[in-house]
Amino acid sequence: MKRVFLTFTVLLVAFFIYTGGFQTLNRSKLDIPSPVPEKSGKIFREITGVIKPGETLYDIFKRYGLDLRDLFLMRNASASIHMLRDISADRRYKLMIDEDNNVHFFKYSINDDIFLNIMRNENGFKAEKIEVEYEKRIGQIGGILKDSLIASIGEGPERTLLALNISDIFAWDIDFTTDLKNGDTFKVVVEELYKDNEFKKYGTIVAVEFVNNGKEYRAYRFEHNGKAGYYDDEGNTLKRAFLKAPLSFRRISSRFSKNRLHPILKRYRPHHGIDYSAPQGTPVSAVGDGTVTFSGYQGGYGKLVVIRHHNGYKTCYGHLSRIGKGITSGVKIDQGEVIGYVGSTGLATGPHLHYEMRVKNKPVNPLRIKIPSGEPLPEVALAEFGSFREQLSKKLASITPESILATGNNRKDSADDA
Ligand SMILES: [Zn+2]
Repeated sequence: MKRVFLTFTVLLVAFFIYTGGFQTLNRSKLDIPSPVPEKSGKIFREITGVIKPGETLYDIFKRYGLDLRDLFLMRNASASIHMLRDISADRRYKLMIDEDNNVHFFKYSINDDIFLNIMRNENGFKAEKIEVEYEKRIGQIGGILKDSLIASIGEGPERTLLALNISDIFAWDIDFTTDLKNGDTFKVVVEELYKDNEFKKYGTIVAVEFVNNGKEYRAYRFEHNGKAGYYDDEGNTLKRAFLKAPLSFRRISSRFSKNRLHPILKRYRPHHGIDYSAPQGTPVSAVGDGTVTFSGYQGGYGKLVVIRHHNGYKTCYGHLSRIGKGITSGVKIDQGEVIGYVGSTGLATGPHLHYEMRVKNKPVNPLRIKIPSGEPLPEVALAEFGSFREQLSKKLASITPESILATGNNRKDSADDA
């Protein structure tokens, strides 16, 4: 008898575990009052997805058999906030639908930081933009360069973006397209943005160290008079009159991100200028602010752009396949602006950029000239900067590269000594 009772108890417990307990049992049979208050009776269905290329909300409404009058009202409600015809591919959306296929709620992520909410109310729909609130944490990343910066910094688009941001910070000091060597190291203190305890993306780089060919470069992000910028150990801004190179690592990387193989650029100095072998069509950037003094075809240079800068400096960019739109004589140019594209016009055997720098019309080696360091922080800000830098340089020093990779096999670089 005892055994039978025990078996019954075990079965009952098993049954409760299986069904999830009392609530799911048939209430009328057991006569247990409902623990949940009666709902409005409406059952909602959720549709979530990612906008496909070329897809419109009309397509989505048609596919799920939703009421097109709702779409019309939603469009009107959101017209002053975000045009519903401007939804873009790869963004997420969510729809809440009742049993009669009426839309009650629509959520669309405009970008990583803002989403659009459209809710049904008694007058139709109400739309609002909501900013995503991230929780900021401070992360530390270190690594040793092998093959390419993007490959060495880790997997995923967020890490790639981090690599590009590092290259932007040091664009005045390091030519990320040709200067990098296997064995170079990088350390980053960076904001990590979390949502619901899940890492979403990197925020601002707070401090970064890059050791290129044995030389240390450090940058600290510091705010002064409401303006933020990157400063070196001495408190000088990293921005200077000339970028290190006319080919931007960011532009090249985003251009070639689709096929994972990053083109390896080479730099030569066969004559007065520097030649960069680079794929046809690679964007060419002005290294400094200035005014275009020549734009057109000139003998062996082929398609050429010449820019005059301050203090008697001039830079020339030759063999272009194409000169940028609006880049004509007399036009003012900003540092980093695209002025043309790599090609092989004129006397050139293959696609490459001929880059020349002149001072008072005498050619100089842009890799050797002493470019004055950037503006220093004003005296009053230096004490505050000093303690800020102290803190962060300790942090940087504490980072150990994630992976210790064997050095060696440095990429050959014929640039400086040719
Ligand atoms: Zn050349």
